[in-house]
Amino acid sequence: MSDHQNSKDPGSIETVLTHHGRVPEDQFGFVNTPVYRGSTVLFRSLADIEAQQQRFLYGRAGNPTTESVESVITELEGAYRTRLVPSGLAAITIALLSCLKSGDDLLITDSAYEPGRKFADGFLERMGITARYYDPRIGSGLAELMQPNTRAVLAESPGSITFEVQDIPALAAAAHAGGARLIVDNSWASPLYHVPLSLGADIVVHAGTKMFVGHSDAFAGTISTTETAWADVERVRALLGFFTSGDEAFLVARGLRTLAIRMKEHQQRALEIARWLEGQPEVLRVLHPALPSHPDHALWQRDFTGSGSLFGLLLRPAPRAAIAAFVDHLQLFSMGYSWGGYESLCIPVDPRRARSAVPWNEEGNLFRLHIGLEGIDDLKADLAAALERYAAAR
Ligand SMILES: *Cc1c(COP(=O)(O)O)cnc(C)c1O
Repeated sequence: MSDHQNSKDPGSIETVLTHHGRVPEDQFGFVNTPVYRGSTVLFRSLADIEAQQQRFLYGRAGNPTTESVESVITELEGAYRTRLVPSGLAAITIALLSCLKSGDDLLITDSAYEPGRKFADGFLERMGITARYYDPRIGSGLAELMQPNTRAVLAESPGSITFEVQDIPALAAAAHAGGARLIVDNSWASPLYHVPLSLGADIVVHAGTKMFVGHSDAFAGTISTTETAWADVERVRALLGFFTSGDEAFLVARGLRTLAIRMKEHQQRALEIARWLEGQPEVLRVLHPALPSHPDHALWQRDFTGSGSLFGLLLRPAPRAAIAAFVDHLQLFSMGYSWGGYESLCIPVDPRRARSAVPWNEEGNLFRLHIGLEGIDDLKADLAAALERYAAAR
């Protein structure tokens, strides 16, 4: 949470990622901030415990390892402060609860990460908070959906299944005019390629589990806010008792050290494969905002400086057997939830299920690909064989 750790000029993003959030002089010269495990933090005197001025008071509120991550993300997101929380979903739920009370209204993009929708429909509704869904391409049209009691807007840009890019400045203007806060899930681009707070958002959340960790071996989320939104987020987090262990924080910090170079590689490979797929006969559409064929390409160009590892692949209509033929015999791509690791993933997805504001009417079968760090020609060969199997089973 704190900004104690770094007084030197952070410099470029790569330098922030490699030098921020670690103070070797505090660790006997060791390069990395180690795993701190601890509940009790000791006070030396009655005066000290009364003053509550120590850097750490109790382990649940953070330790040097969690702080090492928070300070890096704060710097990258241009935030006032950041909290590390146990998962990306926890980042979403805490951010929402920080804005909402009984009787309030919430607007959520129809492209939102599905467990976030479930939290709104299955939990917030029970607390007397209404959740309504908006077209991810609504832009300034959001103003027409705002009600006097709308207090939060949850955006995700691009959506991690359907990849619509959202007009964050327009959403922020509409939200603020109505007295609501704009929360943006920035997991896809990472703060390297998209900085929503600089575009008017109030709160940015990440599934740190994905690109930050980068190795599919830990869970984490982050919440970064403007100065105005901070107190509400921190109060809710503290009241709910959310805590992230030093062990998990260490893995996030470790992942962050190589985030810039990994993002660059993931971006380049994903783009090369996306472009190649666009030319394949079974392919109807590739849903990747950095491709000129993407309907939101201009918006992506305006607001992003790069792209992520994840995109959608829409194949010609075919029965279930063809979907199975495509995914069941992949050699390098594996099937599984999550993304962001060094290994490639491919999973069939069906946006029809969750949508309520704008139905998903595209023909064909949609797959979501995460392009990992394997050899690019090996990945292409794996997909080429899968496309042949798909065609044969169609
Ligand atoms: C995975 C994901 C989340 C949730 O992260 P967890 O750490 O799995 O809880 C949130 N948003 C997006 C876009 C995600 O892909």
